[in-house]
Amino acid sequence: MKFSITSKGDHKSESIKALIYQYLTDFDLEYNETEPDLAISVGGDGTFLKSFHHYSHRLNQTAFIGVHTGHLGFYADWVPEEIEKLVIDIAKNPFQVVEYPLLAMTIHTKDKKSKRYLALNESSIKKVEGSVVLDVDIKGEHFERFRGDGLCISTPSGSTAYNKALGGAIIHPSLATLQITEMSSINNRVYRTIGSPLILPKHHICEFKPVEENQSFLLTIDHITKSVVDIKSIEYQVAEEKIRFARFRSFPFWKRVRDSFISDER
Ligand code: NAD
Repeated sequence: MKFSITSKGDHKSESIKALIYQYLTDFDLEYNETEPDLAISVGGDGTFLKSFHHYSHRLNQTAFIGVHTGHLGFYADWVPEEIEKLVIDIAKNPFQVVEYPLLAMTIHTKDKKSKRYLALNESSIKKVEGSVVLDVDIKGEHFERFRGDGLCISTPSGSTAYNKALGGAIIHPSLATLQITEMSSINNRVYRTIGSPLILPKHHICEFKPVEENQSFLLTIDHITKSVVDIKSIEYQVAEEKIRFARFRSFPFWKRVRDSFISDER
């Protein structure tokens, strides 16, 4: 089996990376940063997101696992004290795979070009100056005209991240859905939006079309931010691709939610 390790780059993460590298190569596993079967990240959720985006072109071949060197992460859920057990499991046992849904975003620009991205947590549409004004279509039908700070479109596993801070629901990743949440929408007698988070099933495409000309938008895809001008539309749907987590022990989603947000004491 081939493996790669992405580290956050701080002293602790670098020394854990060196330890994992040493153990796994001693077990005759091959270190391969280009075509790993297993991508190990060491740091936090941010490092895990970077590792996901680095290998998002080969999701059928690469499975992911995260070790955290700070506080418990949602994706980075192994602690440094468990490293020896983890490397023995990686070296000796074939791992099970757990799949989670992803979000597909396609940006169509006025020069008739299109660019597609995948997000593990979410994508958001914001602006540096002024309100975001967008026509929102769902399944090809006009739904509303949105005015406000922006919109967040999240995956089920991203529902505990930015989406949660915006009042969105936590969605179990066995449900292939996307969730749209508003950021401070303007609602008065002139302007009206739905106001509630929307949860869309697979194959329901939502589309956002800028209403005003020559607008520049800030589009985020997980930890990445892009400034894009001349947008014709931005399209989102549940992706056909899925992320594959390497599973060496059970850590149910609801326990993860409880440990992260309520308490990890029994
Ligand atoms: P970061 O390192 O500051 O991460 C922000 C926090 O989000 C960290 O505590 C991380 O553990 C947590 N996080 C990430 N994914 C999570 C998930 N799926 N469930 C629960 N917590 C999660 O920033 P970054 O490394 O640039 O990470 C980008 C992510 O930060 C974005 O994908 C977004 O979800 C999140 N974010 C959150 C808020 C907010 O909660 N108000 C605002 C902006 C971005």
